Amino acid sequence: MAKIGKVAVLDQVEGTFEVKEYEVPRAEPGTFLLKTELCGVCATDVHMYYGRFPDLQFPIILGHEHVGIIEELGSGRTVDYLGRPVKEGDRIIPAAGAGCGECYYCRIARTPTRCQNGATIGFTPDTADWRFAGGYGQYVYHKHSNMTFLKTDLPADVAVLLEPMCVGMNGVNRAGVRLGDTAVVQGAGAIGILAAVCAKRAGAANVIMVGAPKARLELAKKFGVDVVIDIDEHRSAEERIKLVKEETRLGIGADIVFECAGVPAAIPEGIAYLRDSARYVELGAFTDRGDVAINPHWDLLQKNVTLYAMWGDEITDYAQALPLLEKLEYPYAEIVSHKVPLTRVKDAVDAIGKGGYVLDGRGAIKIAVDPWMS
Ligand SMILES: [Zn+2]
Ligand SMILES: [Zn+2]
Repeated sequence: MAKIGKVAVLDQVEGTFEVKEYEVPRAEPGTFLLKTELCGVCATDVHMYYGRFPDLQFPIILGHEHVGIIEELGSGRTVDYLGRPVKEGDRIIPAAGAGCGECYYCRIARTPTRCQNGATIGFTPDTADWRFAGGYGQYVYHKHSNMTFLKTDLPADVAVLLEPMCVGMNGVNRAGVRLGDTAVVQGAGAIGILAAVCAKRAGAANVIMVGAPKARLELAKKFGVDVVIDIDEHRSAEERIKLVKEETRLGIGADIVFECAGVPAAIPEGIAYLRDSARYVELGAFTDRGDVAINPHWDLLQKNVTLYAMWGDEITDYAQALPLLEKLEYPYAEIVSHKVPLTRVKDAVDAIGKGGYVLDGRGAIKIAVDPWMS
């Protein structure tokens, strides 16, 4: 008898998540089918819910930060991204996206995340041609033949953090943290904390986090963050700029700043944290949240600044970040503050979108959907 799986399907912008049951497909040659254990709720999913991705097609199954067990390997699928043999029943972390492998971005620029002909789990409409194309479901069907995954023995509630960690990894890889640097991370969410881990492990001697609320900043300290500056206590940008500079060598400013808050006003403030000839790394503005004024002379040229902007992460970041995560040097599982069933995806989206990151009366960091929970 055909297997049935549940998914949470979003019908339209600001619509409803309906739990539907579909027949689970068999994995075609070159594809694989995942039995989902957890899927993190990303702020990106919330932006998608609110229609901040104009090209998105509905209905859709959201969710890209997924981990689970190989349910079925299509013929020809025998190894993970690193070439390690895999079998059904192994825990894997799939990469959310796959490039076409043939376009300029895939072949020449080597940034398949900018491929316009690929496919991404959680960004692909739910159609009769491709069911289970998002992480908020009991199964995820990786139907694109370039989709890939990494095998791991990590517990699912740590493995689910690999994708957000890779955003920080991408920033560190491209902008380069140097040994002894003072790095600042703006934003105390999952990406902020995991970017801080990457900066620290890459050699930053002093990691300063500017964010809120207090509970997240306390957690960040367990992840090696040296100094926290609470924006609920220090409410003006001028005050925060002064505090950050006081924590840097010679008081001249930071060597590198990572913007992980996704708030436009954070950018001129973060550039002001920098010493001259330093690097600013934009990781947070994943959707259009409006403009912000920059003075090209004072903010950029006078500072001799280098700007970087990262669109998510590449599969190579997954391969690099996984062994770091697997060392379990920090209490990663504490980042997953809540687990919710498919019937509560909307509650999770509301908590992030308009609930000030509070769910069930508790502060949330990473909410994960457990599609088998009732
Ligand atoms: Zn994400
Ligand atoms: Zn391509």
